[in-house]
Amino acid sequence: MTVYLNGEYLPESEARVSVLDRGFLFGDGVYEVVPVYGGRCLRLEEHLDRLERSLAAVRIEPPLDRAGWRDMLTRLLEHNPGEDRSVYLQVTRGVARRDHAFPADTSPTVFAMVNALTPPDPAVRETGVAAVTMPDTRWSRCDIKAITLLANILARQQAVEAGATEAILMRGGRATEGAASNLFVVGDGVIVTPPKDQSLLPGITRDLVVELAADHGIPLMEAPVTEADLRAAEEIWLTSSTKEILPVTRLDGVPVGDGRPGPVWARMMKHYQTYKQQLREG
Ligand code: PLP
Repeated sequence: MTVYLNGEYLPESEARVSVLDRGFLFGDGVYEVVPVYGGRCLRLEEHLDRLERSLAAVRIEPPLDRAGWRDMLTRLLEHNPGEDRSVYLQVTRGVARRDHAFPADTSPTVFAMVNALTPPDPAVRETGVAAVTMPDTRWSRCDIKAITLLANILARQQAVEAGATEAILMRGGRATEGAASNLFVVGDGVIVTPPKDQSLLPGITRDLVVELAADHGIPLMEAPVTEADLRAAEEIWLTSSTKEILPVTRLDGVPVGDGRPGPVWARMMKHYQTYKQQLREG
């Protein structure tokens, strides 16, 4: 695998980052994950918009401009040919003696790699997945795509140990999102997803689903999802760039709806697959 590190394209085994990098010492950085279908990045400008917002929020000067990001991604994908892939892209504040306050005159560390993108197991379309609820113990700026993911990792691990695929996080009596996914519920035939604020990551897949619903006349509301809404939902979905739209059919061990992926999910999934196919075909 060829990776990108600070302007160079290198075999992964030769890429080196200092132990004094603030990403390593503090988790002081931000990241993006961009899915690529048939050589084309899905919603690239939206991913770069979010990267720029994350960088601005943590006060790291953008190391590349738009044209620079696009060029780097194009070259990195050329070095790593394949069909469906995803690019992981990370910017940290850089290398400096350990001190919490920002170092003077340090340039950011920019790293990117390409991973295979494996679509969800086809069995999931028949059975869905299990999720468990748990308190959202994260900080109050969940809108920043920070590499500091300890609370998300602990939540996901707890879910896995409970035999589930994802944790659905609860804050102040409301469901915010998954440990690494956004949340949708269907009640009375209407899709509901929590509005974008500092309690959740503004997912690119989330926004695409909202847009597809509008394009195809499927009723959707951006509104808080209470614990009661979640438990009464006919359908629950989780979205992310790598998981697409996952139907949740068991919540805390209890069947969601009739315990099978629902009809609104099937309709939305069809539109999402068509969108991907159109991207592949250019
Ligand atoms: N929420 C969190 C906490 C995430 O980590 C992710 C993605 O990893 C998402 C939501 C989904 O975002 P996207 O659709 O941009 O992948």
